[in-house]
Amino acid sequence: MILIDSVSFSYPNSSGPAVNKLFLKIAEKSRVLISGPGGSGKTTFCKLLKGLIRPSCGHVVFNSPICFAAVAYLSGDPYDSFVGASVEEDIVFGMENQGVAREEMAKRLHLALESTGLQGMEDRLVHTLSGGEQQKLALAGALAAGARILILDEALNMLDRPLRTQIRSLLQKLQEDPGLTIIEVTHDLEIATGADKIVFFSGGSIIFDGSYSDFSSFASGRTWREWSDNLELLKQELYIRDIHVQDCTSNSRLSEC
Ligand code: ADP
Repeated sequence: MILIDSVSFSYPNSSGPAVNKLFLKIAEKSRVLISGPGGSGKTTFCKLLKGLIRPSCGHVVFNSPICFAAVAYLSGDPYDSFVGASVEEDIVFGMENQGVAREEMAKRLHLALESTGLQGMEDRLVHTLSGGEQQKLALAGALAAGARILILDEALNMLDRPLRTQIRSLLQKLQEDPGLTIIEVTHDLEIATGADKIVFFSGGSIIFDGSYSDFSSFASGRTWREWSDNLELLKQELYIRDIHVQDCTSNSRLSEC
């Protein structure tokens, strides 16, 4: 489990916290969807989970033996994060850094290529890959490096629907075996079916943290984007249905740690 315990973060020179007193429990091997309007704190939350930034106050606590090193962060533009010239070089780089033994490295490379459908592309130069292939390479690198938690920060947005569907079914398989925790930031309500948890951000706070059935009981027929545009309505619906709501009445971004 990952416990996000009363976590706040302020960027340097900003007037208030980007996220404020977040509390969330994420079960191991679960699939969590994160949504909310632009600027509501989703990316900041992802960076805190990956350990790219440290909480100004509060704690991110991992179940041993999982730690920040086991978290992979995939953004919508993976190209800048590639370090190898070719597909194989890029996948191997992370393992070399960790000092993985040669034999184990070859095994993991094979598995990562196989599970992402990149076999036969080992020698392709990364700059010649399509958007979908780049996302698969980012995923392959994360798997080979031993990631147990995958964060997809609107990572599939730029891909066409068939490719998104293909990568999501790959993610579903990975969630089952080897059993990864998948946290995806998205506005796509269609993929919410089967999610273990849905989290909705607004103004740096979590305003909804519940199951898909809780959310879908009133959200059907509306897209995430529509809910983002009608936050007051969302808050009202949640309140009426007595659904777990965190701090949805005040502009908590202004409050102190
Ligand atoms: P989201 O991912 O939901 O769009 P972000 O986490 O990117 O939201 O941003 C949350 C808040 O933090 C916004 O008000 C944004 O302007 C601010 N912010 C994000 N990145 C920085 C930064 N590097 N420096 C200062 N403020 C930032």
